[in-house]
Amino acid sequence: GPALFGARKNAQGWDLTDAGDLAAIATARAPHLDRVFEAAPMLAGAVAGGARHAVINPATGALVGHCTPAAEADVATALGAAQPWAASAETRASALRRAADLYEENFGAFFALLAREAGKSLADAVAELREAVDFLRYYADGAAGLTQPARGIFACISPWNFPLAIFSGQIGAALAAGNAVLAKPAPQTPLIAALAVDLLWQAGVPASALQLLPGDGAVGGWITRDPRIKGVAFTGSTETAQKIRRVMAEFADPTAPLIAETGGLNAMLVDSTALPEQAVRDILASSFQSAGQRCSALRCLYVQEDVAHSVQDMLFGAMDELTLGDPIDLATDVGPVIDVQAQGGILDYVAAARAEGRVLREMTAPAQGTFIAPTVIKVAGIAAMPREIFGPVLHIATFKAGEVDRVVQAVNATGYGLTFGLHTRIDDRVQAVTEALHVGNLYVNRNQIGAVVGSQPFGGEGLSGTGPKAGGPEYLLRFTATPVETSAD
Ligand code: GLU
Repeated sequence: GPALFGARKNAQGWDLTDAGDLAAIATARAPHLDRVFEAAPMLAGAVAGGARHAVINPATGALVGHCTPAAEADVATALGAAQPWAASAETRASALRRAADLYEENFGAFFALLAREAGKSLADAVAELREAVDFLRYYADGAAGLTQPARGIFACISPWNFPLAIFSGQIGAALAAGNAVLAKPAPQTPLIAALAVDLLWQAGVPASALQLLPGDGAVGGWITRDPRIKGVAFTGSTETAQKIRRVMAEFADPTAPLIAETGGLNAMLVDSTALPEQAVRDILASSFQSAGQRCSALRCLYVQEDVAHSVQDMLFGAMDELTLGDPIDLATDVGPVIDVQAQGGILDYVAAARAEGRVLREMTAPAQGTFIAPTVIKVAGIAAMPREIFGPVLHIATFKAGEVDRVVQAVNATGYGLTFGLHTRIDDRVQAVTEALHVGNLYVNRNQIGAVVGSQPFGGEGLSGTGPKAGGPEYLLRFTATPVETSAD
């Protein structure tokens, strides 16, 4: 079996049904619940810094820490000091593995920060820390097999919805391949990023190979418009990816790759042969876990007309069981959305649907904090959805027997291609839908979130991203320079 060959194992994580694990988490987290964290540029050189500002807990409005964003001078310093990591692949790999161990040892600080800065429930925080260490160890293992040289300086621009896992995955891959990294975390989550870089440095990653430049889109712009950047790894909105591509077209080395994971307009199809209890459980997790703030999340559910009423009634019953609240509480299933801007945009969208009489179900949100109550909206089909609503808002459409092809065509026509959920017990249907759909990750008779490093690599096509998939065997190669073939004539 795999153990015989020393195959890598994903992290075991923590069991939230185990009293011992829960007590250990509470003890480890306690000193970090009131701690005021700090983030600032972390450079192989002197820091200039912009205006320091507060970082606020989205659930409570309480202070989590402060961030000094990077000034333009800090980007210049970082670019001047950056050195591709010349150490051997084995040295790079062991530093990344050591960093993974340090991440696990610091679980108390990470779980506290993931709740306080990013609004993550404990279940989500556990999954996120596991994914982060899995990424580091997976790419560390891949380093040894690389024959291609590093590209040079990579910009890694990461999102607030996976402030540890995606942040660490991009950096881990770029470093495993021997690049220098300028990391620009999302403006909402600089504190988690600073803690992670501190541990990566402690693990032996040289400062010249990894520098942190917190800040907003302006900082990303200063980084990406420099021709010394030889590649960009980006996860975030499709619009920002398009902006980065335009900047790179103008300023970057023409061979510099953009590795982008972007938005989705993800659907699930539940036919009349599906097991309704299972489908409802998976609809609930796919749309409302992480407050719907995953690019993999379910946005448009297609239920076969014959079973639509019973599935809907069971779903509404299950929604009533969800607990909204401060994610620091173990009982919380659904935390806040990331900030006031996100909340305002979603509230406006729901208000417009309400005015049209299309809101089928709405829970009640806590009065304080940037919460959105899980909401279900009726829609004619995915074509009628204007854009990705990045929160706990599910749309429901129905289809008739014989209309599966029409649904598949409508989903393909969105241009996005990230995840799709299929609930059916008809084997031929699984086959037909798999062949016809253009999506990166298709999940059958389960939920459609939570890809797993090494076994279910994650990534989409079309407007959803460039590939290759994160946590998959081709990802690292994209961070290397493939030698140009020359004809020997
Ligand atoms: N990998 C995550 C999942 O499978 C989604 C990543 C994202 O939201 O960017 O749910």
